[in-house]
Amino acid sequence: MNPTLRIQRFTNPGYPHAMDAVIQGGRIASIQPHQDLADDDATSIDARGRLLLPGLIEPHIHLDKAFLLPHMKEDVSSIAEAIASTAVLKRSFTKTDIAERAKQTLYQAIANGVTHMRCHVEIDPIVRLLGMEVMLELKAQFQDRITLQIVAFPQEGIAKQPGTEELLRQAMALGADAIGGITYQDEDVEMHLRTVFNLAREFGTPIDLHADFSDDPQMLAIRTIIHMTEAYGLQGRVSVGHLTSLGSLPPAQAEPICQAIAKAAIHVMTLPATDLYLNGRNDTHRLRRGLTPVAMLLKQGANVIYGSNNIQNPFTPFGTADPLDTGLLLAQTAHMGSKTDALTLLDMATTRAANALGIRNYGLRVGADADLVLFEATDPRSALYERAPRSFVWKRGQLVASTSKTTAFYPVQH
Ligand SMILES: [Zn+2]
Repeated sequence: MNPTLRIQRFTNPGYPHAMDAVIQGGRIASIQPHQDLADDDATSIDARGRLLLPGLIEPHIHLDKAFLLPHMKEDVSSIAEAIASTAVLKRSFTKTDIAERAKQTLYQAIANGVTHMRCHVEIDPIVRLLGMEVMLELKAQFQDRITLQIVAFPQEGIAKQPGTEELLRQAMALGADAIGGITYQDEDVEMHLRTVFNLAREFGTPIDLHADFSDDPQMLAIRTIIHMTEAYGLQGRVSVGHLTSLGSLPPAQAEPICQAIAKAAIHVMTLPATDLYLNGRNDTHRLRRGLTPVAMLLKQGANVIYGSNNIQNPFTPFGTADPLDTGLLLAQTAHMGSKTDALTLLDMATTRAANALGIRNYGLRVGADADLVLFEATDPRSALYERAPRSFVWKRGQLVASTSKTTAFYPVQH
């Protein structure tokens, strides 16, 4: 049984005053307005007005190909080159190598307050089930610190790489939490999606697709995805990452699609670090940002969240596994700088992402798992804009990481 913990005097946008939370048995037992207690309570933490949020959620990341920069022979500048470069690198992947790079990312994420993560694992005739086996081991090894969901992901295509469908089926049978897909690898997109939707039906899992990663407004597999989501009765169980072609469409054509996405309850995961880096490469001037139309999707009622996607590899040579790095990047590039936008961006990294990933027992509410993060900041805007240190991170009420930042200033001699 975890010991009782009291977090005193925290602030949160959902509460008008400083509050106290009591954690018992790994869950939130009570949330009450702050009261001064006898100071001999050894299990208390005084938040001193700092911001407490439910644990951050990283909904889209590739642990198996994180931190590949030192292994790259040359830099890349397009999606096709990134896929080709990674395909070469992964021929030399070993279980130890994948595990080491994945662990490095997991520890970074935990330090950044991430308590839930969904990762895509490459399944193809090159790596076969190597990455899957490693992620299953890490999922068990890290379960007391971070909850890991695994997506079986055919990065190289399904029809393009014979044998992939059977490997996907084996990955699902081993315990993948969701089936992945990619709409820009196989020529017959409809057949690709049908295979993915049938596997979802066979194994009863959600679907998490890489979709329409381009600035070509003609690349609109999302229409087929919407249709299939409704035909298979999977509303609320389908997510799409990237969806950047939609951002190149004129509003009159994009709006009905955004409405249909909202109606089918498809979750949109924008991946700005990769999208900004790899899209717009053929624009000679007035470069497009290459993002999905976040404001329009939100306005139409779609659930939009954001993910890191890649950490320091051919697709994205940046990244620190901090969801707030991504949140700030999105704030800057999707014109989301208002006070309300800051709250939306924090919701995207918490409750909106929990909705997309089907996480239960989540949130800053009585009865939820005590997956919590206390920021070295007292308001949402500074937490986001300064990516404030995560003073304490708890997983089911147990402290799993703490970070503090100190700077010393020295007198200058004249
Ligand atoms: Zn991805």
